[in-house]
Amino acid sequence: MNFQNNESITANAVVIGAGTIGAATAWHLAKQGMKKVILIDRNNVGSGNTSKAASLMTLVRSKEALIPLIQETYKNIDEIEAATATSVGKNKVGTLHIAASKETATSLDSLVAIANKHGIANRPIDKEEIASMVPWLQTNNILKASYMKDDSFVDAYVLATTFAEAAKQLGVTVMQHTEVEKLLIQGDTIVGLQTSKGQIDCDYVVDAAGAWGNTLSMQVNVPIPMAPVRSIYWITEANETLFSPNQPMITLPDAMAYTRPEAGGLLFGLREENSPHFHPDALNKEPNVDFLGNPEDRWDIIVNHGEDFMSFFPEFEKQGVESCITGISTYTPDGYYSFGPSKDLKGFYVAAGCAGAGVAGSGGIGRMIAEMITNKPLFADEKPFAIDRFENFDPMSKPFRQRCADARSKKKDGG
Ligand SMILES: Cc1cc2nc3c(=O)[nH]c(=O)nc-3n(C[C@H](O)[C@H](O)[C@H](O)COP(=O)(O)OP(=O)(O)OC[C@H]3O[C@@H](n4cnc5c(N)ncnc54)[C@H](O)[C@@H]3O)c2cc1C
Repeated sequence: MNFQNNESITANAVVIGAGTIGAATAWHLAKQGMKKVILIDRNNVGSGNTSKAASLMTLVRSKEALIPLIQETYKNIDEIEAATATSVGKNKVGTLHIAASKETATSLDSLVAIANKHGIANRPIDKEEIASMVPWLQTNNILKASYMKDDSFVDAYVLATTFAEAAKQLGVTVMQHTEVEKLLIQGDTIVGLQTSKGQIDCDYVVDAAGAWGNTLSMQVNVPIPMAPVRSIYWITEANETLFSPNQPMITLPDAMAYTRPEAGGLLFGLREENSPHFHPDALNKEPNVDFLGNPEDRWDIIVNHGEDFMSFFPEFEKQGVESCITGISTYTPDGYYSFGPSKDLKGFYVAAGCAGAGVAGSGGIGRMIAEMITNKPLFADEKPFAIDRFENFDPMSKPFRQRCADARSKKKDGG
């Protein structure tokens, strides 16, 4: 299926945006038996904010409704790896959830109860064993810790391209370098879209355009509860004495930090007190290569918010930082994803609002959307994620974007 002689083409469903979420959605639509599915992106598959992700796939979440969606992604990875004979770089290193205050120890007890409820393997782990696994970590102040051995991180870019490849095998057409310019409606129904290469007539459109999602959906007056908010992490220089590729991921809520191994060094993220947020229309259309926001932030955040992290990592000051990565996540005010149908525009669906965990939830979100469109029973609860769960908001407005940025600043779950 492709454009010829400026004629319009027809499809049953078009998924806009080939990040992990859009690519997974296209694959699930084809798996549910939908014919003539198009996955479309103005750049390359996986080159958006997906390519920036730290890609932790922490299974346990205080927001329990996310868990089945994340578990689904794990299952999907096995399936698409087998179908395409490709590895998505899954590293099953497990996660250490660490509490160094009474408040965090209480939250950890709740997290462990949630893990047990959802069949997520976990066990208490003592300071000696932690020290043997993670030589850089100062364990003196640890009150309680849990090791969840099945957690993995992946290469999100490869995950997106593998979902897209598996989708192609099932008949999906992947159109790269094709921009969606306009959504076409008739009355209260979506009927297609205008792209930079021609018109596509279709019954269903899924807006999976990530940080740019509202730019498209607001054309047809469907506000998505989310805003583009900066995410940031750093990677240290390699050090084989302190770091090993098999070290577990770590969540340190008492330092508002998370870590995982990367290229012989340590990838660490710190939550900022005030995460910068952006107007969707002001974002670069190309994958950003430059630092997002004030370049001084890359050091200022460590100086201003890294003290607690350094108390867990006393050797930090001797350890060089190799790089600092910024990208955009689409945060929501309540930390739940934003996906599902528009109640006002028939045929229009949203798969977005990643809340900083869109790699982890991509397979689950994709399956939910595919089940909704093909009228199948839903495998998980959709209500917490409904795009109309907030009333009277303007996703482009500064106050709403600030609410979303505040949700990121307060987030304590890893990844
Ligand atoms: C620094 C950072 C760290 C992160 N860490 C984690 C983590 O540890 N764990 C985790 O689960 N998640 C993490 N995330 C979030 C994760 O990257 C995303 O949730 C996930 O990749 C899903 O992204 P997406 O598919 O919604 O968007 P994107 O990957 O940005 O895809 C959207 C696509 O839409 C396309 N597009 C936009 N407008 C149009 C148009 N008009 N026409 C055609 N195409 C269009 C873009 O080109 C883009 O490719 C992190 C994000 C960042 C930035």
